[in-house]
Amino acid sequence: MTATPKPATAATAATASKAPTDRTRIRRIAENADYQRDTLHAVLDAAYVCHVAFVDDKGTHCIPTACWREGEHLYIHGSNGGRLIKLLAKGTQACVTVTHIDGLVLARSAFHHSMNYRSAMVYGQFEKVDDKAAALDAFMRHLAPGREQQARPGSSKELAATTVMRISLAEAACKVRSGGPNDDTDDLHLPVWAGVLPLASLRLAPVPDALCSVPAPDYVQNWAN
Ligand SMILES: Cc1cc2nc3c(=O)[nH]c(=O)nc-3n(C[C@H](O)[C@H](O)[C@H](O)COP(=O)(O)OP(=O)(O)OC[C@H]3O[C@@H](n4cnc5c(N)ncnc54)[C@H](O)[C@@H]3O)c2cc1C
Repeated sequence: MTATPKPATAATAATASKAPTDRTRIRRIAENADYQRDTLHAVLDAAYVCHVAFVDDKGTHCIPTACWREGEHLYIHGSNGGRLIKLLAKGTQACVTVTHIDGLVLARSAFHHSMNYRSAMVYGQFEKVDDKAAALDAFMRHLAPGREQQARPGSSKELAATTVMRISLAEAACKVRSGGPNDDTDDLHLPVWAGVLPLASLRLAPVPDALCSVPAPDYVQNWAN
């Protein structure tokens, strides 16, 4: 989420590089594929939440959880006792997705309606992160740059109860759609409104806690600007 999300550059044959693996090769509407690192980083950095899909003995699950990126890894954290963390720590295969919707695309025909979006899929196994304090500082920075120097750091008890995990971005794909409807030529004369209804996440005015008497730091004052 950003105040004014900018759609990542649409992929073209000239800009999109190759899929890292066969399972990340986008076949459906391949012109929307984008394997550039900059696009992947931008899609992940604009997210506060990812969805982690995995299979266990009860079936297939897809769990939303907070995320942040550092370099060529996407990070998550959770309680040591949580199912997600316990399974991922065993080396379970996972697929992580992030999606941003930029608009509803209204075409002249029902079947050509679409959405503008930026999405990413990352495949692989998570690994435990040893330096949990540093990783969680990076999480704080992702939420609000500078906050990691202000908030009380995790105690040894809090850190001991928490697992930080990361997945490599080596096997990932992005798909990006932007622009207006792709109507059939025969439909262009139809007297139906066509175009895009843009969508964005909005930053609203901060709401101080009732017991907070501390002046708002820059990242709070600038939140909704
Ligand atoms: C907001 C939104 C709305 C959508 N609505 C629809 C819809 O209504 N109907 C529909 O059929 N599709 C929709 N899509 C597209 C959908 O995500 C798939 O791309 C599409 O269904 C084709 O899937 P596939 O497995 O057949 O594609 P394939 O091209 O066969 O997929 C091959 C590989 O490409 C990668 N890939 C596929 N899709 C994505 C993606 N979106 N982002 C990143 N990597 C990807 C994966 O690694 C996958 O294994 C939507 C996408 C978004 C983000």
